Amino acid sequence: MSGFAAMLDRAAAGRAPSAEAALALADCDDLAALMEVAAALRDRGHGANVSYSRKVFIPLTRLCRDSCHYCTFARPPRRGEAAYLAPEEVLAIAQAGANADCKEALFTLGDRPELRYRAAREELARLGHGSTISYLAASAALVLRETGLLPHVNPGVMSAAEIARLRAVSVSQGLMLESAAERLTRRGGPHFGSPDKAPAARLASIAAAGAAAVPFTSGILIGIGERRRERIEALLHLRTLHRRYGHLQEIIIQNFRAKPGTRMAQHSEPTLADHLWTVAVARILFGADMSIQAPPNLQAGALERLIAAGINDWGGVSPVTPDHVNPERPWPELDALARATAAAGKVLLERLAVYPRFVEEKERWIAPALQGHVWRMADAEGFARTEAWAPGAQVPPPPMPVTGPLLLDRAANSVGSPPPCGQGNRICVNKTGISLLLDSVRSVNDSYLFTHMRLPCPCGEGLGVGVARLLQLRCQSHHPLPTPPPQGVREQTEFAARDDSISPEHALARTTNGRRGALRHPGNM
Ligand code: SF4
Repeated sequence: MSGFAAMLDRAAAGRAPSAEAALALADCDDLAALMEVAAALRDRGHGANVSYSRKVFIPLTRLCRDSCHYCTFARPPRRGEAAYLAPEEVLAIAQAGANADCKEALFTLGDRPELRYRAAREELARLGHGSTISYLAASAALVLRETGLLPHVNPGVMSAAEIARLRAVSVSQGLMLESAAERLTRRGGPHFGSPDKAPAARLASIAAAGAAAVPFTSGILIGIGERRRERIEALLHLRTLHRRYGHLQEIIIQNFRAKPGTRMAQHSEPTLADHLWTVAVARILFGADMSIQAPPNLQAGALERLIAAGINDWGGVSPVTPDHVNPERPWPELDALARATAAAGKVLLERLAVYPRFVEEKERWIAPALQGHVWRMADAEGFARTEAWAPGAQVPPPPMPVTGPLLLDRAANSVGSPPPCGQGNRICVNKTGISLLLDSVRSVNDSYLFTHMRLPCPCGEGLGVGVARLLQLRCQSHHPLPTPPPQGVREQTEFAARDDSISPEHALARTTNGRRGALRHPGNM
């Protein structure tokens, strides 16, 4: 067996490669083998789910003190043009997003423009702020208060004090490492003239965010002149910080696109194979649970291939605002994204700006003032709550988001755990298993059961009512069972799981919550 094959076997078994073994992957050209292992790891950690965040993009300022050679976002001050969005402009964009059911306000902006431009300093003074970060904190607080959107802030390199200040008004923060190759900051490199792209400065910010318990987004930009080994080194730096703090909620693998009007307009772009290779390697380095993301608008014709390479997230997608960083590449319509995701055998699922794991541990990761709001916006699994209906509400339950085997996959993610009391049956996802479940939670029918899967717990305690939760309810006598909706409503949502097209074998092959074989057909119990 080759060294790579043995390493990949170990990775597939859940043993992440050491730094040395990871660096050796730079010479691995077996893309199919890398993708197969990466996809299996992703399935173990995320099942059928591929998530996205419904967001609105707020470019607070496009001034930046840096001069990255591929950037079309940053621009110098223009006569007659404000350096910053005014508070009412910020609010108008955010409100448009809220009206379109967005949950996230993504603040992306240039890095410390006040250190370079007098226009920035003067306008900040007029706005009553001494720094861009100060104005950003005020803007995030405004959006949160007036629209309820959850801010995610992306202001570039930050100090520990700035991170702490932003933590109080946002649910997550982000800073792409892009590359850990110092040489790219030297003359001739894409980051020459961009002091904030010094890898040490960026890593220091990412570490400070970990120390402050901030759910954090980072990642790498590929194709700007770095070598494969340098990509792996950058990922290893991020992995080291994540192992220390546990704060990285997603790793973005972004591909460079050459843009007219930039110094790198003629620079070759990374191939799709190169992108897939990097996605797969990132998945193998970080393992099953990490969220690995690729922006869908930068590789529009290859979404299924990206899923096959191990991603589980598309990042932020806006139905309202363009991608101001890549305006020439519009985000796909959400329907199209859902279709492409389904074509790859997955379910598109909306998440919040903060990932489910951090929602679940909100006391540790989310500022106290935001915890209740986040909790109300989250469903039973920590994803975005996308409907107004709740047990007892006077509105009909929403239609099933998906049908047939894919819905059953979702069900599998909810029913794989035995009830906490340790008694009772594990539940399989075929019809017989559902009947077993129904027997155990008498007075509800299957359509009712499944409309509860992603809704908050009626006891107000905050735990979600999933199928597993209904089993918990049975085990905890102080939790009353929720009242079933009227019969007419039940019939309206007649459950798609009556579809017998999923076989017990299919159910057995699924992994649930990272534990292969947690779902069992009654015949195997
Ligand atoms: S730091 Fe960001 S906004 Fe500034 S020039 Fe570089 S890529 Fe553009």
